[in-house]
Amino acid sequence: MTDKTWDVAAILKTTTDFFGQKGLPTPRLEAELLLAEILKLRRVDLYVQFERHLTPAEVDAYRELVKRRLNREPTAYILGRKEFYLLPFKVTPATLIPRPETERLVDEALLLTKNLPNPKIADIGCGCGAIALALAKNLPQSHVTAVDLSPATLEVAKENALALNLTSQTEFYLGDLTEPLTNQTFDLICANLPYVPHDDLATLEPDVVKFEPLLALDGGPDGLDLYRRLVNGISRWLKPLAYLLLEIHPPTLEELTKLIVAEGLTFIKAIPDYARANRLVLAQKPIFL
Ligand code: GLN
Repeated sequence: MTDKTWDVAAILKTTTDFFGQKGLPTPRLEAELLLAEILKLRRVDLYVQFERHLTPAEVDAYRELVKRRLNREPTAYILGRKEFYLLPFKVTPATLIPRPETERLVDEALLLTKNLPNPKIADIGCGCGAIALALAKNLPQSHVTAVDLSPATLEVAKENALALNLTSQTEFYLGDLTEPLTNQTFDLICANLPYVPHDDLATLEPDVVKFEPLLALDGGPDGLDLYRRLVNGISRWLKPLAYLLLEIHPPTLEELTKLIVAEGLTFIKAIPDYARANRLVLAQKPIFL
């Protein structure tokens, strides 16, 4: 890329074609995100500056990012951030990158809690804080407690709370599932725990396998190791009529429903994702449990 001068339009076109040939899922978008980062522009501004000529230093810096992406490093890790529910989140290799299908969990959680005056919500396995902080932002009267097992991950979640101005509405605890929760009960507990069956891990995209934390993905032999431990005894943290909302590996729905019923909760519904797979499970604690 150094032998000729490049303008924004040309370098984007060349990079997009190259990313496309290499099988990246969204070549144009990713070419734009990386170039906007180098030029310190918003993505839309690239279009206003289509004829801008890049300096050799800018071309070199861009080439470095393009090479990282070609090595399958996720764009979110290259940029150090990912948008989720229209909010910017810092992400690092210690945190799973928030997925678009998890926004559906936030939609549902908001519907369940929007009529409560002061909803108390827990997010177990919060990662970078995407679910917890999207809920806190959209429910200004709520209080959200978030737990994660990984100290490095929890630090990122706390930084995101600070950046989003949500520290007074949120609390973060280091620990295993519900273990750090004190004697309190919630209106809603949500979780997107590691749920990929161990033997399926190798079949995930190379971007995921090579770069994302396996700790946040590996659900054990059948994908339910973590949910088995979470659901067992979860009732004591739920108020009467409170909800449990989980993102799951769709094939585990039936088995998970059994766990929910064994815990004395009422299965309410499964909610499909954009690919029509049962990605979420909603359960409720009966009034007299
Ligand atoms: N949806 C993620 C994936 O398939 C898995 C997230 C999880 O295990 N909680 O990459």
